[in-house]
Amino acid sequence: MKDSIFNTMKALNGFVSPSAHEREELEYVKKEIAPFVGEDNICFDKMGNLIAVLGKGKGEKVMFSAHSDTLGFVAYFIDDKGFVKVSPLGGINTQTLRGRQIRFTNGVNGLLFFETGDLNMRTAYVDIGAASKEEAEKLISLGMAASVVGEVFRMGGDCDPRIVSPFLDDRIAVAIQIEAIKKLSECRNELKNEVYFVFSVQEELGIRGATTAAFGIEPVYGVAIDVTGAADTPKCDPMNMKVGEGACIKYMDGSVICSPKMTEFMNSVAEKAGIKHQTEILLYGGTDAAAIQRSRAGAYAGGISIATRYIHSPTEEASLADCVSCVELIVALCKEGFSF
Ligand SMILES: [Zn+2]
Repeated sequence: MKDSIFNTMKALNGFVSPSAHEREELEYVKKEIAPFVGEDNICFDKMGNLIAVLGKGKGEKVMFSAHSDTLGFVAYFIDDKGFVKVSPLGGINTQTLRGRQIRFTNGVNGLLFFETGDLNMRTAYVDIGAASKEEAEKLISLGMAASVVGEVFRMGGDCDPRIVSPFLDDRIAVAIQIEAIKKLSECRNELKNEVYFVFSVQEELGIRGATTAAFGIEPVYGVAIDVTGAADTPKCDPMNMKVGEGACIKYMDGSVICSPKMTEFMNSVAEKAGIKHQTEILLYGGTDAAAIQRSRAGAYAGGISIATRYIHSPTEEASLADCVSCVELIVALCKEGFSF
């Protein structure tokens, strides 16, 4: 399964999908999951969320959600010399951006630089190799989005191989949901709930996609799959999450305190199934879990997370073994059935 997750990440790396520009990537995901859930059980909603359902009519609804958008930029001004000003889509760490290659959704490449040392995005500009404003306007148009370009690669030894990507957040969860769908389709008769897998949009701008998806689906239970900050680098502030220590069961982040019944259920299922897991208490950030929890009259919400180093940089690092644990946990929860 590690190879399969890695290969999905390689394939997704070919798409430029910052917030609100996820469609091409999601059409690819749709093709990947269609043989396992059936064309009739997949749809796009008006926001652009891709929604797949397994076990229709089986019982109370469960919604898993992994966001498909990445961090990015949007072009808002072109100067007389043909340089492009861009504004961030999401909370990009500007310290890692100077000199980066970026790519617009139409495939045009650019180089991101800053005029000053303070790395404020207002002083950033993109050189797209144009000699004038007119030439630049032939290459890109205002409102066009872009994201950084970077490789997906493996790192480390065989016992706990790492995956590095500019967009583990949150494509690694997209890959995890695809694997979970494949596994669950083999045992769909054992499902005790109607299980929705949402590949949500615009999470990085404030969990916008999951908000409408949850309203439409009206789940009783909701689980966000996302990356979480690993606190295991030299001299970092202590938190419990570490790369390689298993699937993170979320208790809280900056946007949500998970339903105690949900964390209890996840822990007991992980213990029973012998799935490596760790406690996640993230002191910042936000996930789709918050949107699901507060949708309509509320839902029991939780999260399964992947401990990740260097989040929101172009080199995010996680353990492939942890990703497998996350798939196993999703499958085990669905087989056990959400009922509390
Ligand atoms: Zn995320």
